[in-house]
Amino acid sequence: MAKVSATAASALASLAILVALPALAEQAEHRQLGPHVHGQGTLDIAIDGNKIEMELVAPGMDIVGFEHVATTDDQKAAVEKAKAKLTDVLNVFKLPVAAKCKADAANVESRKETHQPGEKDDDDDKPGEPQHSEFHATYTITCEAPENVTGLETVYFSDFAGGQLLNVNVTTPKGQTQAQMTRAKPSLDLTGVM
Ligand SMILES: [Zn+2]
Repeated sequence: MAKVSATAASALASLAILVALPALAEQAEHRQLGPHVHGQGTLDIAIDGNKIEMELVAPGMDIVGFEHVATTDDQKAAVEKAKAKLTDVLNVFKLPVAAKCKADAANVESRKETHQPGEKDDDDDKPGEPQHSEFHATYTITCEAPENVTGLETVYFSDFAGGQLLNVNVTTPKGQTQAQMTRAKPSLDLTGVM
């Protein structure tokens, strides 16, 4: 009997370790994969002459509330709806009307978070491993009056319930600036950057 009890205790200890693992793995995943933090996306804006290029990278959790592969009809519909919203760039990121901008190209995809170069990828799809995915969008915009691009307002945070913060990098011929847009401040001041 004593032997059986010891085995049971050992099994319980193993169970406790297994239960603790997902949280640790989640932390490790975020450390290894760098900047993907739920609630935070990145918006790069490059302005040169009358051309504006934008690139948005946002966790799937922020955009649709999950990061696993969409399997149910509801999940697939949520992904398609989000892609459609993100494709309409000048609705999501509103530039001043006086700048007379139009979108030339928009490409939106949902993809598995890319691993850092050199990182081993062989345990990628183990059952139970937390997986991350993100939305990646690139845009090309032309503005007839780029001198009127004095700012930007976004409905990103009202459209996407999980988004809390966008780290914004603005590149112009004059240099680079960093800023943040948040749920509390969904706008960006671009006066003086060009
Ligand atoms: Zn994630």
